[in-house]
Amino acid sequence: MMKFYCNTCRKEFDAQGRKEEFISPVYGPCSHYVADCPDCGRESSEYRAPKASRPEQAQEVPSCGMGGCCCGM
Ligand SMILES: [Zn+2]
Repeated sequence: MMKFYCNTCRKEFDAQGRKEEFISPVYGPCSHYVADCPDCGRESSEYRAPKASRPEQAQEVPSCGMGGCCCGM
């Protein structure tokens, strides 16, 4: 089982998944895994945990010192 994420329902789900090959204009032949969402039936792609891959968007991580908020009592 793998984790997938439906952009339509905005939820994660576990599924077997299937390998899909495609040609990227940038990277050439690629493959990734897709699965159908159990709710809406749309093809969803593999879920990737948001891990420090977007340094510009730090809004998910409340950090003290960036605006002074969470540690002030
Ligand atoms: Zn869905």
